[in-house]
Amino acid sequence: MIAAVEAGGVSIPKLGIGTYMLTGDTCVEAVAGGLRAGYRHVDTAEMYGNEAEVGAGIRASGLPREDVFVTSKVWHEHLAEGALEAAAEASLARLGLDQLDLYLIHWPSRQVPLAEAIAGLCRVHERGMARAIGVSNFPAGMLREAIALADVPLAVNQVEYHPYLDQSELLRVVRAAGLGLTAYCPLARGEILGDPVVERIAEAHGVTPAAVALAWLIGQDGVIAIPKSRSVARLAENLRAVDVTLDPSERAEITALAQPSGRMVRPAFAPDFEAG
Ligand code: NDP
Repeated sequence: MIAAVEAGGVSIPKLGIGTYMLTGDTCVEAVAGGLRAGYRHVDTAEMYGNEAEVGAGIRASGLPREDVFVTSKVWHEHLAEGALEAAAEASLARLGLDQLDLYLIHWPSRQVPLAEAIAGLCRVHERGMARAIGVSNFPAGMLREAIALADVPLAVNQVEYHPYLDQSELLRVVRAAGLGLTAYCPLARGEILGDPVVERIAEAHGVTPAAVALAWLIGQDGVIAIPKSRSVARLAENLRAVDVTLDPSERAEITALAQPSGRMVRPAFAPDFEAG
C-alpha cells in the first residue's frame, strides 16, 4: 500500500512513475506494467512528447480511471493568457482523458508575468480540466508569490530532490504552506545507485540501493517521489521502497551525502535556485 500526501484538495500517492525520455511502446508498456505492479500515479508533461502513450498505458493497465493519479505540465513557453488553457486542452486530448488530477507549470517564465500564468492555471482548475494545480522548479520566493496569487490552494512544487541535493530550506516553505514536494530525479538519474553508503544500507535491508534512496525520500513528511524506469522489473523493484523503514542513523547518513554541486538539472531558462 502506497501512502499519500493530502494537498490542494487531492490525495497524491507518494510514489509515482516518471516518464521523461520514455517514448513509443516502451512508454505504453512501462506505464501499463508499472500500474499493474502497484503504482497508482503517473507523471508526464507536454514537453515529454509522450502523453498519448501515457494515456494508452493507463487504458492498457485495465485500472478504472479514478484509481490512477495523473499529472501533466504546461511548458514555460505556453503560459500567456489563453495559451495555458489551450495547452491543458491539448494535453487532455493527447492523454484521452476528461480531467487531470494535477496540472503544473513546468518551469517559471521570464517573459510572462507570474500573475498572468497563475490566473491561467486557476482557470484550468475552475473549468474542471484539473482537480488540482501546482508548480515545478519554483524557488522559495517565487513559490510564495504563486501561493499568494492563486485563488485555490496549490498542491505541490515539483523539484529536483535526491540524497545529493539538500532541499531542507524549500521543504520548510512548502510544508509551512501546506503543499507537498514532488521529488524529480529521485535516483539522481541513477548516480545514487552506486553510492557506497546507500549500497551498504541496501545490503543490510536486503533491498536494492534504489529502494533505499526512495525510502529516504518518501519517509519524509509531504514528500512524493517519481522515479523513472523503462523496465517494468525495475519499476517493481523500486516499489519495494514502501516496505523499507530506515532507522534515524541510516537516514542521517543518507542526508549527509548532500553536496553543494548536487544539482543536476539547470537548463539555460532555469530560475536562480540559490536566490531563495
Ligand atoms: P531518475 O532519478 O528517476 O533516474 C532514472 C534513471 O535511473 C534511468 O536511467 C533508469 O534507467 C535508472 N533506474 C531506475 N530504477 C532503477 C533501478 N532499480 N536500478 C537501476 N537503474 C534504475 O531520473 P529522471 O530524470 O527520469 O526523473 C524522474 C522523473 O521526474 C522523470 O521521468 C519526470 O517524470 C520527472 N522530471 C521532472 C522534471 C521537471 O522539470 N519537473 C525534470 C526531470 C524529471 P532505466 O530506465 O534503464 O531503468
